Amino acid sequence: MGSRVRNPDFVSLAALMSRELRDEKMETPSVRYGCSAQSRKGEDYFMMKTDCQRIHGNPSSSFSVFGIFDGHNGDAAAIYSRDNLLDHVLDAIPHGLKRDEWLQALPRALVVGFVKTDKQFQSKGLTSGTTATFVIVDKWTVTVASVGDSRCILDTPDGVVSVLTVDHRLEENIEERERVTASGGEVGRLSVVGGPEIGPLRCWPGGLCLSRSIGDMDVGEFIVPIPYVKQVKLSNGGGRLIIASDGIWDALSSEIAAESCRGLPSELAARQVVKEALRTRGLKDDTTCIVVDIVPPDNSLPPPSPPRRTQSKLRSLLFRTKFRGGSSSKLSKKLSAVGIVEELFEEGSAMLAERLGNGETCGSSTNGLFTCAVCQADLAASEGISVHAGSIFSTSSKPWQGPFLCAGCRDKKDAMEGKRPSGIKVI
Ligand SMILES: [Zn+2]
Repeated sequence: MGSRVRNPDFVSLAALMSRELRDEKMETPSVRYGCSAQSRKGEDYFMMKTDCQRIHGNPSSSFSVFGIFDGHNGDAAAIYSRDNLLDHVLDAIPHGLKRDEWLQALPRALVVGFVKTDKQFQSKGLTSGTTATFVIVDKWTVTVASVGDSRCILDTPDGVVSVLTVDHRLEENIEERERVTASGGEVGRLSVVGGPEIGPLRCWPGGLCLSRSIGDMDVGEFIVPIPYVKQVKLSNGGGRLIIASDGIWDALSSEIAAESCRGLPSELAARQVVKEALRTRGLKDDTTCIVVDIVPPDNSLPPPSPPRRTQSKLRSLLFRTKFRGGSSSKLSKKLSAVGIVEELFEEGSAMLAERLGNGETCGSSTNGLFTCAVCQADLAASEGISVHAGSIFSTSSKPWQGPFLCAGCRDKKDAMEGKRPSGIKVI
């Protein structure tokens, strides 16, 4: 930017920013968590890992990971994702990044990790699929990636409940219905011959009622593993995350789930949410709930119950979108000190090329070879295919620019975009 009109708020914003920088040095929130589960089919799995480190051996670089995997048609995809997704995500982050750069690299790495997990699971030839809702908590910054309908909500001390995921259910998500249909899938309900249609909207072939999942090699490949990703930064009042499988959300709204456990410590809160869901609906499905409290350092008690809110219109004002689909900016950082949950990133496109970007920072490994942006396999110079080649993006991006994909990952990308008839596997 060149010369500009002097913003009268400039000084106070600068003051806020320096205050926040000071706060950041002193204030690291603590993370408390609890989980509760009631099983009916035995296909819900979860993970809670609080001892991860960005830099090995440096405790100040620690972060936590929570995940729920609600399997269907068996539990193999849920177990495989629980055990491998985190490694696949971390493998996709370049080494030696500073904390800010690492957080900015996360959304793309999550996309890569989900696609790689799906591809590797499918190569085992096992049927079954799973939802995946994967939450990374790094100090005040929460990054959520999800496919399927295992929702994650955020309850902040001012009583505002926000949903950090999108439900990938054909019944409720018109955009996804249109995408699946455009890619060659049929969307409809089950029906008995001559009888009425029953149950939720499903995608055929396969009959899945989700539009995104990991696994599911026996359904159309337009059922993609590309996650919706949202990254937010909490104010220094902290907040509570409730991550749960659809056994909870089919019984309770986001607001009721949050209200039902306010004031309780995380372990009891998770139990309370499950209890409330069972009381409402009975045990119809696997029901799993993780509660994560991000607690300011000077606050030893869970946040008190805020006064009941009546004005939901305020929500859009309080939950400020600084910008979409981009990385964090200096201006947006300044505003979080005033008690607003700050949205750093949001993107839900099912198109891999859009999610991998133009790859200035990726694609060529240290030994001078190119690597596949998804599976990280080394590529010979003649081998890599630009993620943008042959796509609508090739007008604005040069097809010889990265990121590059190996032939196998390029096939997968084409299949996900409906460019190959489903069911035909290229070997
Ligand atoms: Zn590859």
